[in-house]
Amino acid sequence: MLSQKMAELGTNRSVIRELFEYGKKRKAEIGEDKVFDFSIGNPSVPAPDCVKETAIDLLEHEDDLLLHGYTSAQGDAGLRKNIAEYLNGQHGLHLTEDNLYITVGAAASLTITIKALTEEGDEFISFAPYFPEYRVFVENAGAVFVPVNSDPADFQIDLEALEKAMNTHTKGIILNSPNNPSGVVITEDCIKAVCALLEKKQQEYGHPIFLIADEPYRELVYGDVKVPYLMNYYDNTIVCYSYSKSLSLPGERIGYIAVSDKAAEWKQIYAAVCGAGRSLGYVCAPSLFQQVVARCMGKTSDVSIYKKNRDLLYNALTEYGYRCIKPDGAFYLFVEALEKDANAFSEKAKEFELLIVPADSFGTPGFVRISYCVSTEQIEKSLPAFKALAEAYR
Ligand code: PLP
Repeated sequence: MLSQKMAELGTNRSVIRELFEYGKKRKAEIGEDKVFDFSIGNPSVPAPDCVKETAIDLLEHEDDLLLHGYTSAQGDAGLRKNIAEYLNGQHGLHLTEDNLYITVGAAASLTITIKALTEEGDEFISFAPYFPEYRVFVENAGAVFVPVNSDPADFQIDLEALEKAMNTHTKGIILNSPNNPSGVVITEDCIKAVCALLEKKQQEYGHPIFLIADEPYRELVYGDVKVPYLMNYYDNTIVCYSYSKSLSLPGERIGYIAVSDKAAEWKQIYAAVCGAGRSLGYVCAPSLFQQVVARCMGKTSDVSIYKKNRDLLYNALTEYGYRCIKPDGAFYLFVEALEKDANAFSEKAKEFELLIVPADSFGTPGFVRISYCVSTEQIEKSLPAFKALAEAYR
């Protein structure tokens, strides 16, 4: 009668969504400011001024067809050219509009890319902790999701474990840096080692292995940390980007796929991306916001606010005895639960009105994710609760 698999996906909400919904209910019961909701990754920093100014200007001065009509299926040619030129300027590339496909955010970028690459029996590897939706996207394309544990000391990639997980069915590697949920930025040395391994395996298996760079947090880094641009390290790279976090626009659903012009048969890959977009119905991303992002190229939300939140939370929590890696990017703190079962720990935290996400679905049991994309005031007010939670375990 219907797809049981889809019914199951639609019924079993993610643990993040469950907590978020619980938080809304709890706030209605005891008051907004009494509940410390760290569950969801909704940017708390407003979009930069250029977004609002551009949107108003466009709405007042441009014609309706440009703002509300269909664009080309793969996105407006002007925007694609704009992005290509921006990326070329930033990273010394040679992309054109024909390497770019505009999407409704990184989720669509990933879904389309995986669909475009998948043949029967293919496998895609990613590294725990990973964004839980990867499994959904990969399995929906008919491929197999293969998680590989990261080095627990620093959450960099464990090369030995990666090599062990690879076989002739390996079609791609999904790499997310800065990482959700760990906040870790993969180092250049680690990237080089991964790329060398992929090159070796391509030779050995006699077919391309694609590196899929999931980069919605690229600009959200603190201090002088650099996020290597993977196209400059490995030819068979496809970048899945979104403006959800960099411009604080997750609800506008806008992003892109960039297929490297150095990838094997990149024109064919791009054609498959267009085909996958078509087959999934992901054509013609919202026209108004295609125009907005075209005019806000290179702008980002105020990252210094996230840095302030990170420092406040990291310093306080480590002082209270929590153990976590200091994140260099994104807006998540990934903390070891104070008991073995992170779900039980998350439940215990609720007694202190703290909503923190158990990380089992990220492939790393025993950890919780704390999203610090909230107001600095919320973090300040929540610190006594974090302290009391830690004391409850002494
Ligand atoms: N990839 C990662 C690692 C994410 O954290 C998210 C969203 O939080 C996405 C992809 C999806 O992003 P978008 O909202 O642009 O679809």
